[in-house]
Amino acid sequence: LRTGIAEVLRADLPIVRTASPGGRPLIYLDSAATTLTPEPVIAAIAGYYREVSASVHRGKHMLSDIASTRFEQVRAETATELGAAAREIAFVPNTTAALNVVASGLRLRPDDVVLVPLDVHHSNLLPWRRTARVRHIRLNDDATVDLDHYGELLRGGPKVVAVSHCSNVTGRYAPVREMARMAHEAGALFVLDAAQSVPHGEIRLAETGADYAAFSAHKMLGPTGIGVLYGRLDELDPLLTGGGTVDWVDLDGARLRDEPHHLEAGTPHIAGVYGLGATLDYLRGLGWREVAAHDRELAAELYRWIEQRPHLAPLGGTGADGRAAIASLRLPARVDADEVARLLSDSYSVMCRSGKLCAQPLIDTIGDGRPVLRVSAYLYTTPDELRTAFEALDEVLSMVGVPVG
Ligand code: PMP
Repeated sequence: LRTGIAEVLRADLPIVRTASPGGRPLIYLDSAATTLTPEPVIAAIAGYYREVSASVHRGKHMLSDIASTRFEQVRAETATELGAAAREIAFVPNTTAALNVVASGLRLRPDDVVLVPLDVHHSNLLPWRRTARVRHIRLNDDATVDLDHYGELLRGGPKVVAVSHCSNVTGRYAPVREMARMAHEAGALFVLDAAQSVPHGEIRLAETGADYAAFSAHKMLGPTGIGVLYGRLDELDPLLTGGGTVDWVDLDGARLRDEPHHLEAGTPHIAGVYGLGATLDYLRGLGWREVAAHDRELAAELYRWIEQRPHLAPLGGTGADGRAAIASLRLPARVDADEVARLLSDSYSVMCRSGKLCAQPLIDTIGDGRPVLRVSAYLYTTPDELRTAFEALDEVLSMVGVPVG
């Protein structure tokens, strides 16, 4: 494993030095929910409040100029990383907000059809249900998208196809370039939820062919409350209106600002944008290719530990190929995943997620409807931590009566 990356990163993570829940070292395996935050990102956020603390695009004074310049610089840097133009990048609170902006902004009619694979996150399902008719694309036995079924559904003339680039449950990547091409041939827009793929190095979103894509900084070492919406923003009606979205208002009406500003209503999370800028600098410093390669190695390591334990059934099957370092485990009958997560946390300082992972249609279909235990690693995870975590899981399972061999 390229532990070099983990070591560099761990030296920058205050929480692995200071947080010692229960007096044991923290083993954080809930990175698909939110990642740990390195010092340079914390410093950028604090630096905004310490040294600037003024609003953007509102005034003519020096501090507002400094904030506005940095804000637009981060937008330009984000665009460069994605292979896009700055006007194609809007800052939003998170992936969920971005997908709501797209779903509401496209002016869909109630009988328009939107296709989503069964593995989408609720954030890429419920916004579409609110505005259109949703049809689910089936999955194969290994939880990859059934492209034959997708092809069939495309013949029905959907307006939009909305896909998870990487599943937050199974860690499987979707063949998005091919899916985008098929959607476009059928006359549909292609929307990509990149919340789990960008963190693992898939940053060149403009090259996927997606018309729109969204991700959140907090899943890639960055702050909470700031995310990115990429795409043909000029074609979206704003979800929110108000200050910042217009350049002229009189007694009769208003004139919307050009994209992306018409989508950024109200005072934005400026500190968050500073933090996002530091996050991109940090990941660029590690190298996007290195980040992706490291994740593949981590996924192989993670699934190796799982495959040694036949009583753990990962959703989407075993094998790490085409997967991020995310695994959701169906535990043996009568074992409560929530209780296991609680015991791992309280007795071993191992932090894992349990539940239905905001993907209940998937869990209920390919799981058995019970909550699962999700183990998700990130750049700072070491092989030793995975070993310790799986040994802890063995102990917890044997405590609740599962023979773990
Ligand atoms: N999509 C996927 C695939 C996710 O994993 C998540 C976060 N769990 C989201 C969307 C939502 O992200 P956020 O909570 O940052 O809006």
